[in-house]
Amino acid sequence: MGKVAVVFAAAAVVAACSVAAVMVGRRMRSRRKWRTVVGILKEFEDACDTPVGRLRQVVDAMAVEMHAGLASEGGSKLKMLLTFVDGLPNGTEKGTFYALHLGGTYFRILRVHLGGQRSYLDVQDVERHPIPSHLMNSTSEVLFNFLAFSLERFIEKEGNESDSQGVRRELAFTFSFPVKHTSISSGVLIKWTKGFKISEMVGKDIAECLQGALNRRGLDMHVAALVNDTVGALSLGYYHDPDTVIAVIFGTGSNACYLERTDAIIKCQGLLTTSGSMVVNMEWGNFWSSHLPRTSYDIELDAESSNSNDMGFEKMISGLYLGDIVRRVILRMSQGSDIFGPTSSVLSEPYVLRTNSVSAMHEDDTPDLEEVARILKDLGVSDVPLKVRKVVVKICDVVTRRAGRLAAAGIAGILKKIGRDGSGGITSGRSRNEIQMQKRTVVAVEGGLYMNYNMFREYMEEALVEILGEEVSQYVVVKAMEDGSSIGSALLVASLQS
Ligand code: ADP
Ligand code: MG
Repeated sequence: MGKVAVVFAAAAVVAACSVAAVMVGRRMRSRRKWRTVVGILKEFEDACDTPVGRLRQVVDAMAVEMHAGLASEGGSKLKMLLTFVDGLPNGTEKGTFYALHLGGTYFRILRVHLGGQRSYLDVQDVERHPIPSHLMNSTSEVLFNFLAFSLERFIEKEGNESDSQGVRRELAFTFSFPVKHTSISSGVLIKWTKGFKISEMVGKDIAECLQGALNRRGLDMHVAALVNDTVGALSLGYYHDPDTVIAVIFGTGSNACYLERTDAIIKCQGLLTTSGSMVVNMEWGNFWSSHLPRTSYDIELDAESSNSNDMGFEKMISGLYLGDIVRRVILRMSQGSDIFGPTSSVLSEPYVLRTNSVSAMHEDDTPDLEEVARILKDLGVSDVPLKVRKVVVKICDVVTRRAGRLAAAGIAGILKKIGRDGSGGITSGRSRNEIQMQKRTVVAVEGGLYMNYNMFREYMEEALVEILGEEVSQYVVVKAMEDGSSIGSALLVASLQS
C-alpha cells in the first residue's frame, strides 16, 4: 500500500469513528432526555397516588371537617352554609316556573311546566350559552343587566303561547357561588370562585341585584328563590326519588350539598323547621386535608390563580383546573428536554389547555393517537413521536384518576357523616338503630365534567365501591341529573308555591 493510500485509509477510519461517536453521543443525549421525561412522569404519578388507605383518610377528614363546620361559624374551611331549604319538591307541584342559572362557564335559562304528578314534568326551551368572559371581570350592573336582558329575550320568544300571559312569572335564580343566606330568597355573596372577579359584589344581596335589574327592564318576574346549583340538583333528584339526600356537582367547579338534621347544625341553636332537617351547602371546593396528594404543579397552579390559598379541593377535582394541571406537567417536560421540540409559547399560557381537550386526548382510540397530535399542534407542539403522545395520554390519566378517586372520597365522607357508609359513622346525635340500618341512599350528580368525561366518571364510581366495599355500595346509587341544577331549582320554586 502506498503512503497516500495509508493516509486516506486512516482518515476514513477517523471519520467513521467520529460519525459513530456523534451518533452514540446523540443517542445517549436522547436517552438521557427520555429518562428525564420518564423521571418527571414517574415522580408525578407517585405524588398523585391514591391508594384506598389514603382515600379512607380523606373520607375521615371530610366527615370531621363537616362536623367542625356545623359546630361553629369559621370552625372549618368547609363553610357548611344554611340554605333555608327544609322541604324538597315531591311531585305534587303544578304550574309554570322559570330558572336562570349562572354557572362557572355557562348560563342557562329554562321553563318547566308541571302537571301535579311526578310523571308530568315538561322541561321547555332550555337555553345554554357560554358566559361572555368580559362579564366575569365587569361590574354588578353590567352582569345583572346582561342576565335581565337575556331573560327578556327568552320571554319574548314565548309569544302568546305561554300559560303565563298576564301572570307574574316565578323565577329561581340558580347561583353557583358561595352565598350566606338570610332566607330562601335572599343572601349575600361571600366570595367569588372559578375565575369570577367583581369585587364590589361581595357582601351584596344577589337576589336583590337580579330583581332590581328585572324591575329596571320592566319585566314582571319575581325572584322567588336563590338556589345553589347543588341544591337544584338535589331538588330534581328528590323529585324523582325521595331517597336522594346528597347532590354533587362536577362542572367548571365542584361542590356538594346534603340533607342534614337541624339538631346536628350546632352553630344555629334552636333552628326549627317543619321537616326537622335542612339542606346544607357544604362549599366543599374549599375542603383541605394534609392527606390530599398535592404536587408541585398544584402548588404553582394555586399560587398563580386569582384565588390562591382557597378552594384547594376544587383545584384538584374540577373541570376548570384539570386541563391546567396537565398543561403544567407537559410544560415541565418540554423545558427539561426537547422531546416536545422547542418550548411552545402557547403551552406557557395558563388555562390554554381545556379539560374538554384532556378528555378528548385521554379517550383517543385511534392507533396513532391522532387526536392527541391535533390538540398538541393547537398548543404549538408539532410532530411529536407516538411514544411522546402516549406520555401525554398517561398524564391525562394520572390527573383524572386522582380527581375521580378524590371525588369519590368526598362523597364517602358525606355518607360517613350521615351514617350511610356502613361504618357506624360519627355518632353524635344519632341513635344506634339509625346507624345500624343500612338505607338506600341516592346521590344526585351533575356537571359537565361528570356528564361528558367517561374516564372521570368511571374512576369515581370504581373508587366509591373500593372505599365502601361491595356490600354497602349496593345501597348507594349514583344518579346522573342532566341540567339538574336548573330544572331542580325551578321545581323548588314550584314547591314553595304549593
Ligand atoms: P357550569 O360549570 O358553567 O355550570 P357545566 O356543568 O356544563 O357548566 O360544566 C362545564 C365544564 O365541564 C367545562 O368548563 C369543562 O371543564 C367540563 N367539561 C365539559 N365537557 C367536557 C368534556 N367533554 N370533557 C371533560 N370536561 C368537560
Ligand atoms: Mg354547574
